[in-house]
Amino acid sequence: MSMELENKYIAEAKLAAKQAGGYLTVELFDLYRDKEKTTTWDTYNRKAKTNFKDFLKKADIPTKEEYLLEKNRIKAISNFKLLNVLNGYVDKIDYEEGNLEPAWDYISDHFGIEKICKAAEVNLKNKYTNVESMIVDLKNSIKKIGYIPTKVEYDSLKLKPSTSAMNNKGLSWTEAMKKAEFSPKKVGEKVCEYERCYSQFPYIEGKRFCITCENKIKNEILNKIELMNTKDLKDVTKVLVLEGNNHNLLDKLRKK
Ligand SMILES: [Zn+2]
Repeated sequence: MSMELENKYIAEAKLAAKQAGGYLTVELFDLYRDKEKTTTWDTYNRKAKTNFKDFLKKADIPTKEEYLLEKNRIKAISNFKLLNVLNGYVDKIDYEEGNLEPAWDYISDHFGIEKICKAAEVNLKNKYTNVESMIVDLKNSIKKIGYIPTKVEYDSLKLKPSTSAMNNKGLSWTEAMKKAEFSPKKVGEKVCEYERCYSQFPYIEGKRFCITCENKIKNEILNKIELMNTKDLKDVTKVLVLEGNNHNLLDKLRKK
């Protein structure tokens, strides 16, 4: 394949991409190519022996994914600018209330909220005016995870508050976790699943509640048993005989 031929083909592909709306797939190329000047991709490829993706890269033509990504990036920037004009800042709640596209989480995953803010030259609303509200969110995020993660793991889950938000408030990961009453060094320990309990305890297979909550649950169930009719009592007894006294069962019984 001569350079000249290749360059000519690339120039034609660029024209086809323009016709197709900005990006190319093999199908779009064959649909929009100038049929008098270019051969099909298959014919070309028999000589050039390359794959379409590499060809696009060489021709500096976006793939469909790249094109859509860039389009969404531009849309995100423009949405952020708009919100900033309306509110003086950008935040997740306002963005999601506006039902804007692309979705907030898509922006966060693909580009990073802070990067888009920077590109749009807008301010991200600082949700945390004080350390206390940040620590409350941290407690709830750790509870949602269900165990003590490493800092790296926590970062990768993209939960609030971010470790950089904590750093901005002068708190390291360890300090913030301690403020939230967790022991950050005991990675992998469980966090109690009972409502509004944040107790940390060593991981034991099948154990979902701290000892205090386990007792609380047992009392809840005992109280229920007092009020049960014979049929329900029989059901509970049977299930206890069959499944034993584990936390999943306790949870099921208390919610019955
Ligand atoms: Zn508990």
